[in-house]
Amino acid sequence: MNKLITSSPPATSMYDTVVNQLSQTMESLGMAPDMRRILAVTNNEIIVHFPVKMDDGRIEIFKGYRVQHNNILGPYKGGLRYHPTLEINDAKALAMWMTWKTSLAGLPYGGAKGGIQIDPRKYSIGELERITRRYTFALGDNIGPDLDIPAPDVNTNEQTMAWIADTYMSTKSPLERSNFKHVVTGKPVGCGGLAGRDRATGFGVYLCLKLLFKSWGEELAGKRFIVQGFGNVGYWASHFLIRDGARLVGVQDAHATLVNEQGIEVEDLLEHSKPRLNSIKGFEGAQEIDSENFFSLDCDILIPAALGNQITAANASSIKANIIAEGANGPTDKEGEKLLLARNAVIIPDILCNSGGVIGSYFEWLQNRNGEIWSIDEVMQKIEKKISTAFTDVQGVAKEKNIDYRTAAYFLALTRIETAYKHRGIFP
Ligand code: GLU
Repeated sequence: MNKLITSSPPATSMYDTVVNQLSQTMESLGMAPDMRRILAVTNNEIIVHFPVKMDDGRIEIFKGYRVQHNNILGPYKGGLRYHPTLEINDAKALAMWMTWKTSLAGLPYGGAKGGIQIDPRKYSIGELERITRRYTFALGDNIGPDLDIPAPDVNTNEQTMAWIADTYMSTKSPLERSNFKHVVTGKPVGCGGLAGRDRATGFGVYLCLKLLFKSWGEELAGKRFIVQGFGNVGYWASHFLIRDGARLVGVQDAHATLVNEQGIEVEDLLEHSKPRLNSIKGFEGAQEIDSENFFSLDCDILIPAALGNQITAANASSIKANIIAEGANGPTDKEGEKLLLARNAVIIPDILCNSGGVIGSYFEWLQNRNGEIWSIDEVMQKIEKKISTAFTDVQGVAKEKNIDYRTAAYFLALTRIETAYKHRGIFP
């Protein structure tokens, strides 16, 4: 499993954050109130309870979710997370962000999110497999390659996706089984996965930063950055940034906060964390400090790549970075955002900054549909093209309307959705 990140419950919920972002954008840009009413609610909210046999013979009951927010632009799309605090409102918020994200990236998808309320560290690999398969079975035909396509998210990975694909395909007749491979994306390369899907999200975070600096006539070389979360996104974003000469001076996970002004060796840190259930604690190439000092570290770029609502009124004023690149979904709450924008910090919003993942998913889905296999170079080029277009569009709207990047990204995403509704109308 990817790293489990835990933190104390935030003051506001992710749901409050996303609804507030939606209302603010609609109001400030004068968008139709009907659209707000449609988009403020989710189409379907599925809650499943299912029993699973544990290694010691006991039966445990689990709670799983799948929220399908909107599908005007195409099948529902979005990840599955395994986390002990996951509840329906989180899944709703995360599903809404997926709707904006896929729209902004120009993908033919809607938005969904789900997962299981579980601390995966407490279960053996065999138990996790049975839990995942039983959850898939419980969802039944509520997911499907042309209906709703899950993918990895916090604490799920390509192995989780392989189990889901296998379970889902096993419920179909042998004749048509292979037509269902793309019921999930983010699968291992050996069974229909896309070369490069593993690094796609982190690559997108890096590209957004590169494009931002380029637009200012600057380079990434010499820039200092800090990362919250050393899971898939945190690691790959750091990997690409360092390759361009930037320096990782601070990193935090649920277990430790590490600093090194000379730069943290990211590949060594990965080697250290892998055998320790992905914990960065005890790494010798950096010094450990108190976790509350993380956000105030001196740096140019802050990359929150863990959970939602981490940047709040409680810490936003202490943030030194001028650029916040949102690798996580919903890491900045309303008050935190106000404080950052008031001092002209640039926030590259999640729905743009971390969209490399779902863009990679789209290419995997296409590859499966067409029975093709693409090379990693081809894939990275395709991802780069889509991210660059989205970034340039957002920057253009932000300049033209003199608004922040999040509002600009929402404007673009919502306008596309609104256009689709205008064409199609409301049935009947
Ligand atoms: N979980 C990722 C996200 O939040 C990827 C979703 C997908 O690929 O469908 O964007």
